[in-house]
Amino acid sequence: MEVIRTIKEMKEFSSRARRAGKTIAFVPTMGYFHDGHLSLMRGGRKQGDLLVVSLFVNPTQFGPNEDFKNYPRDFERDGKMAEEVGVDVLFVPEAMEMYPPDHQTVVRVEKVTQNLCGKSRPTHFQGVTTVVMMLFEIVMPHVAIFGEKDYQQLVTIQQMAKDLHMSVEVVGMPTVREADGLAMSSRNTNLLPEERKAALSLYRSLQKAKELLQKGERKADRILHEMKGILQSEPLVRIDYVQICDAYTLQDVDRIDGDVVIALAAYLGKTRLIDNFVYRTL
Ligand code: AMP
Repeated sequence: MEVIRTIKEMKEFSSRARRAGKTIAFVPTMGYFHDGHLSLMRGGRKQGDLLVVSLFVNPTQFGPNEDFKNYPRDFERDGKMAEEVGVDVLFVPEAMEMYPPDHQTVVRVEKVTQNLCGKSRPTHFQGVTTVVMMLFEIVMPHVAIFGEKDYQQLVTIQQMAKDLHMSVEVVGMPTVREADGLAMSSRNTNLLPEERKAALSLYRSLQKAKELLQKGERKADRILHEMKGILQSEPLVRIDYVQICDAYTLQDVDRIDGDVVIALAAYLGKTRLIDNFVYRTL
């Protein structure tokens, strides 16, 4: 595995690969790898001749009071894990090179970023789309792979790629969970043992929603009421949102008639976790 740290070298690598007729699969990450990341990388392996993974804790997608400084980092460990999974290039750019002092361009996707996480993190998606746009320009991938764990992010990037007529294909992959159901996240490492236990209620509330849907419940407020009951029974859980939205527009629905995403965000102490599942009617 090659570790590339400069934009120039990364562009040269990708240009050479493209000239040689190779396809490039790309997995952007913020590091501190877990099986969710590795699953995306294994998926990426199958979708291109070469697999590039970026590791960059992007400062612009964190709000002023968020956990940018405390975001877990372990480059040694990440490097070993990426190598074992068969990554060809680990791209680790410097913040100063990505955002030089006179940087002044942002990419903003409008409607799909307004609801859900966009309400409590108003500048988050703009930070994500800007950095992903830059990474696409540098890595020049044919296929880019994102996790459904960050469902609104996936929809936002797909919208950006479509709106800007980009050549990259944006592919989603399923959420990988711990044995007990908690969605894997780099942030799980910041949970205290009692918060880790309480965090399971996020998964339990999603399971409850699934059960109600399978029994034929179609009223969103009934499902949301049951989900909130489960979350509120855990004193350590502070709900940010629990919502049922159209799976493509991300607008709230009252009745479940088409494909929906059932999504939630909650704080456990200082740690904010998100989870969701997509319920498809066909
Ligand atoms: P992050 O490093 O948290 O920015 O995540 C990098 C990529 O991994 C994003 O596309 C995430 O959606 C994806 N990802 C994070 N957690 C999981 C998970 N538990 N299962 C599948 N994909 C994930």
